[in-house]
Amino acid sequence: MDERLERLNRLPLREDLRGLHPYGAPQLDVPIQLNVNENTHGVPQDVQDAIVEAVRGAAAGLNRYPDREFTELRASLADYLGHGLTVEQLWAANGSNEVLQQVLQAFGGPGRSALGFPPTYSMYPLLASGTGTAYLKGIRAEDYGLSAESAAQQVRELAPSIVFLCSPNNPTGTALGLDVVEAVYEAGEASQTIVIVDEAYAEFAHLGTESALALLPGRPRLIVTRTMSKAFALAGARLGYLAAAPEIVDALRLVRLPYHLSAVTQATALAALHHRASLMAEVEEIKHQRDRIVKELDRMGLRPAASDSNFVFFTGLRDAQRIWRGLLEAGVIVRDVGIPGSLRVTAGTESETTAFLTRLEELLSQEGQGSAA
Ligand SMILES: *Cc1c(COP(=O)(O)O)cnc(C)c1O
Repeated sequence: MDERLERLNRLPLREDLRGLHPYGAPQLDVPIQLNVNENTHGVPQDVQDAIVEAVRGAAAGLNRYPDREFTELRASLADYLGHGLTVEQLWAANGSNEVLQQVLQAFGGPGRSALGFPPTYSMYPLLASGTGTAYLKGIRAEDYGLSAESAAQQVRELAPSIVFLCSPNNPTGTALGLDVVEAVYEAGEASQTIVIVDEAYAEFAHLGTESALALLPGRPRLIVTRTMSKAFALAGARLGYLAAAPEIVDALRLVRLPYHLSAVTQATALAALHHRASLMAEVEEIKHQRDRIVKELDRMGLRPAASDSNFVFFTGLRDAQRIWRGLLEAGVIVRDVGIPGSLRVTAGTESETTAFLTRLEELLSQEGQGSAA
């Protein structure tokens, strides 16, 4: 055991944290970064300019604590989401990760459990363990699908305090039908389960994919989370949010740190929301690259999953780790999500996507796999 780990083990760390590993997607200095589903198209110039101006305005008032209720931002988020949502139904924090953490702090904790359906977002178990919540692993179909009947059955059996439905799901990229959300919500009636629908990638969904926001009326245990990290190209700004019944927001006020959203963060997010037209134009181009990846991987004889997000999960590789390393050697980093024969790639700019596809095809033909085989 290395010495640092021994020293950590001598500390009076909580027993349930011993032996755990922190979130660890590699942050390597590689020219083409397609591994953490960031918006690869960058922040449009007009959005950059608006942010700089807004932050300059906020700077003069930084001697004061920020608006603890970030009311203007919540109003702007409600306006963006539509669905008749009001300010009282919106809440935000430093990334949807912090939003999820607050939900777990309020509704999870020791003696309680949260259910997820792996393969899904790798932060769910970490957020659960950080808040002393037991993490239960639900089961998906062989093709990683999740039917309404199966999900509802598992919720009835396990009676979790919280259930995570990731739609579109990370890492597989596919959106859930609203019938799944409805069935899970109903199945959680007896156990009063809080149902979280994580819609981090909602803006990239195919036309006609419905958001769980439509299900909020009359469902006080339903929470829909979103983020500005993906479609809004603001992963570095850290702004995630949710829509739910006002009493859910009241519950989160009990656990949030006072003034958790800095004035700089609020100003940045507001500026981006006001200039969302140019951001949404980039989303269309990203969807185009996403569809191109699916089509090309298919042509190479691989099996890409249907994607409603800004990334593509694909399987059918003989040796995923070798391909991962081969891409990295060519300056392209993708994500090894730990599923044999599979990798996940974020849609890049047109030239980044071309570099990825070209290198991948070379690697496949080297091992006699794919269309060249
Ligand atoms: C990227 C991602 C998030 C976003 O997290 P932030 O903290 O808002 O950056 C949330 N959920 C899923 C499933 C994601 O992939």
